[in-house]
Amino acid sequence: MDASRGTLDGQVALVTGASRGLGRAIALALADAGASLHLAADGSEEELAQVAGACVERCPSARVSRAILDLSRPDAPADMVDAAVREHGRIDILVNNAGVRIRKPFGQFTADDFDRLMAVNLRAPMLAAQAAAAHMRARGSGRIINVASQLGTVTDTHASLYGMSKAALLYLTRSMAVELARSGIVVNAVSPGTTATDFILATLTGAQRASRIDKIPAGRLGRPDEIAQAVVFLATTPATFLLGHNLIVDGGETAK
Ligand code: NAP
Repeated sequence: MDASRGTLDGQVALVTGASRGLGRAIALALADAGASLHLAADGSEEELAQVAGACVERCPSARVSRAILDLSRPDAPADMVDAAVREHGRIDILVNNAGVRIRKPFGQFTADDFDRLMAVNLRAPMLAAQAAAAHMRARGSGRIINVASQLGTVTDTHASLYGMSKAALLYLTRSMAVELARSGIVVNAVSPGTTATDFILATLTGAQRASRIDKIPAGRLGRPDEIAQAVVFLATTPATFLLGHNLIVDGGETAK
């Protein structure tokens, strides 16, 4: 029996990047815990509708709404939060999961690459958190969980641009945690290591996958549901003294 089942009954979670990969797993795990959901993504309406349907199957009492929008637009994050509150009347949990990757050597990434990546990986979570915090503050409670990356803490080949965005997201997590603590809003981050999403499996060659696994003390890639369980833990734990934390879920690679 899943220990978190029912712990989020009556609560509303907004999950960005919910159409696939980690966002999909996070949405399903929050539905398992009983949350109603507002799901956001940028691409296919069909994929997002499929995730919404799977969430309702997991939790028939949950209300699940969804929105397709491009979070790189400056006004999109606040519009998304407003839509969630319009649909559900409240927002208890914000999971800033949507992200993009650009892997290029340091000398090759451009100002456009920088702007595009930072708009989704850093500015959108910041603006979504500002908008969500305004609603949470009025209720005196809320949880904000930012999905960063192991690469916000350690470096890797051609990962400087992506890593900078995740390091800044971790800084933002700590500063929001401090500033919002007395409003009853708990802010933390989850930092996944390499996790076996469809995208990762499709982009790594067999040799690249073997070399990644070789570096991971656990001897395997992470599973999306393991990252999702870390998010559910931060969304449900009664230990609200746990603030501004970076929960690294990487099979021990960063520790090594
Ligand atoms: P993914 O499979 O590429 O999915 C990314 C999600 O973000 C999709 O739902 C996508 O929507 C959404 N998204 C991208 N750009 C967007 C935009 N401009 N506006 C709105 N939504 C947008 O990624 P993932 O592997 O699940 O990663 C999820 C998060 O975990 C990211 O922040 C990533 O950096 C982080 N992470 C992943 C890993 C890993 O190994 N998988 C490791 C460390 C950190 P559409 O599909 O609809 O376009």
